[in-house]
Amino acid sequence: MELKICQSCGMPMQEDQYGMEKDGSRNDTYCCYCYKNGEMEDCTMEEMVNFCAPIEVEQGRAATLEEARAALMAYFPTLSRWKS
Ligand SMILES: [Zn+2]
Repeated sequence: MELKICQSCGMPMQEDQYGMEKDGSRNDTYCCYCYKNGEMEDCTMEEMVNFCAPIEVEQGRAATLEEARAALMAYFPTLSRWKS
């Protein structure tokens, strides 16, 4: 099964990581960290990059924070939340 990617932070979502609407139904566009109780976590793309960059390094997808930030700054604008 293909994992859906959160359109805010780029995280591949497991079954229990989908966002939740106010009525408890599932939102399969965003993950449970970005979308809670029917509302988006309020942050800028840059804040999201700063939040995610250390995780990229930790999980070995980038060698340094700088490299992780650069990759995310290029990647995030392709997600629907940050598309202008
Ligand atoms: Zn997310």
